[in-house]
Amino acid sequence: IIIGEHIVKSFGEGDEQRNVLDGVSVEINEGEFVSVMGPSGSGKSTLMFSLSGTDSVNGGKVIFDDKDLSAAVENELSDIRRNKMGFVYQQPIMLKNLNILDNIILPSVRDNRKNVAKISKKASALMKKLGIAELEKRDITQVSGGQLQRAGICRALMNSPKIIFGDEPTGALNSKSAQEVMDIFSEINAEGTAVMLVTHDAKIAARTERVMFMLDGKIVSELKLPKFDGTDIEGRMEAVTVKMR
Ligand code: ATP
Ligand code: MG
Repeated sequence: IIIGEHIVKSFGEGDEQRNVLDGVSVEINEGEFVSVMGPSGSGKSTLMFSLSGTDSVNGGKVIFDDKDLSAAVENELSDIRRNKMGFVYQQPIMLKNLNILDNIILPSVRDNRKNVAKISKKASALMKKLGIAELEKRDITQVSGGQLQRAGICRALMNSPKIIFGDEPTGALNSKSAQEVMDIFSEINAEGTAVMLVTHDAKIAARTERVMFMLDGKIVSELKLPKFDGTDIEGRMEAVTVKMR
């Protein structure tokens, strides 16, 4: 679904210029569940921003669904990002004066004002599926971190994306909520949506089927695992931590 070829991303000018991504090549397949680990500053978020067309690249290219993102004009790019990609961050950014349901439907309603009823129905169905059906009318300050994150995932799923990008989506959660959020990603993935997560947590990465390790703007190694079926999390974590060293 995504092919990144020799991606170079640099920040700064002249003598100060530095390659944060130093010729990274990476491929993510349809329906794949991958994660990216690596020390702080190694370029994980930058890689995700480059692959999702959030940031333009300085060299190389990014092909999404056979479309060259670096050559796409602005409208095409925002269409692809809106309709084919979903984004989840450490904490969802939500408006305090709207309830959970309204926050979830807001971006879709903005794109399609005529279909509020249909959009609300889809949101309700997703909230039910993610176990937060009873929170529709709740204020965003009246739910737990895990519940808010699930609402953020609902919002990311509203357009039935082909891939979900999660930049440390469990980073602000306790381990129980983190595992529940991972259960949701696993379920979404089992239905065919590709998922790419950035994480610092070996237990999170261990649930994916491919872990890429970054160092200084490069992918330095990779670990392949079978699809997670709920078993042998210890063995998988062990494999991740061994590879990290
Ligand atoms: P973390 O685990 O802390 O989130 P990361 O691996 O996601 O780290 P990035 O956010 O990708 O790291 O950043 C990689 C490097 O690029 C860092 O040295 C960072 O300071 C630099 N960087 C990122 N964004 C910018 C920017 N907009 N301008 C200048 N430098 C940047
Ligand atoms: Mg980051």
